[in-house]
Amino acid sequence: MTANPGFSRSAVTSLWSRFRLWLCLIMLWSTVACKEVPIPSAGIPAAAATVAAREEATAGKDLAPDSPLPHIDAKRAFAYTREVTAFGPRYMGSENHKKLERYILDHLKGDQIEEDAFTADTVEGKFPVRNIIAKFPGKKDGIIAILGHYETNYPLRTTGYVGANDGGTSTAILLEFADQLQGKPRDGYSVWLVWTDGEEAVKSWSSTDSLYGTRHLAEKWEKDGTLKKIKALMVMDMIGAQDVNILHDSNSTPWLLDLIRTAAEHGGYQSHFYALQAGEEDDHIPFVQRGVPCADVIGVPYGYNDVFHHTPQDTMDKLSPKSLEIVGNTILETIRLLDQR
Ligand SMILES: [Zn+2]
Repeated sequence: MTANPGFSRSAVTSLWSRFRLWLCLIMLWSTVACKEVPIPSAGIPAAAATVAAREEATAGKDLAPDSPLPHIDAKRAFAYTREVTAFGPRYMGSENHKKLERYILDHLKGDQIEEDAFTADTVEGKFPVRNIIAKFPGKKDGIIAILGHYETNYPLRTTGYVGANDGGTSTAILLEFADQLQGKPRDGYSVWLVWTDGEEAVKSWSSTDSLYGTRHLAEKWEKDGTLKKIKALMVMDMIGAQDVNILHDSNSTPWLLDLIRTAAEHGGYQSHFYALQAGEEDDHIPFVQRGVPCADVIGVPYGYNDVFHHTPQDTMDKLSPKSLEIVGNTILETIRLLDQR
């Protein structure tokens, strides 16, 4: 997807055909019989290659929507981002973190809520960690999980860092998804929204200093059998920057990334997806490691050369409701496509 080879397979085939013709003529000249030798990999006839390319290009088009595309309320999602960010730094163990937990739980009143709370032992001491799970049951057997971290970076706690995009938008888009799901019976899979805690490292990122909440949750869900029921798990992270571009994460599951691309195409948002490719370490990793189909939906770089990421410049003025709309609508459409599978 990211690499443009600069020439087509049929062009190569035609060059090869010409070369073969000359080869035959030369061999005929030396009165040696020339047999048609099948060409190993580039040997697909040009017409067949065109058909294959066309089939590839239309893959998933049979899932094209026959009813209006689902959409979020982007203004409301942006207002949630503003309210969440206004709490200030929301790092693990802080008062603001507790206030935000309360804010999320208040929002989910009446929903089926579960918490995964424990104490994390870190190089900076012990911290209470709490993942908040809202469950919206469906008729189909299986779960679509959507995760997003709500706490902010710990090492930057004294810098005035508020994590509007990194922590703010992930919390807010899940609140908006909850609004979309509340009170509507689902014919498709159950949808579980998970506000994850302790995503950030407390000192410096490593496999033991990061992803405190999801490492705990993945282990718990492995033991109680939940993991086997998860059809797809998507992580929302830093999705609100102006002119957002979602990374093609090489640690994610290819078919799920493709399905998200199809969903984006249905909304005309494809130019905001997959311009760059890299392997991202995020809340999906503990689930990837256990074989769950996962996609990290993360907007990086954040600002030119990633300048706003993990700096006190991660503030509301860098964000746009349009980006929340692009990602939010795409994920709702992805849920719809998953339900149809
Ligand atoms: Zn972060």
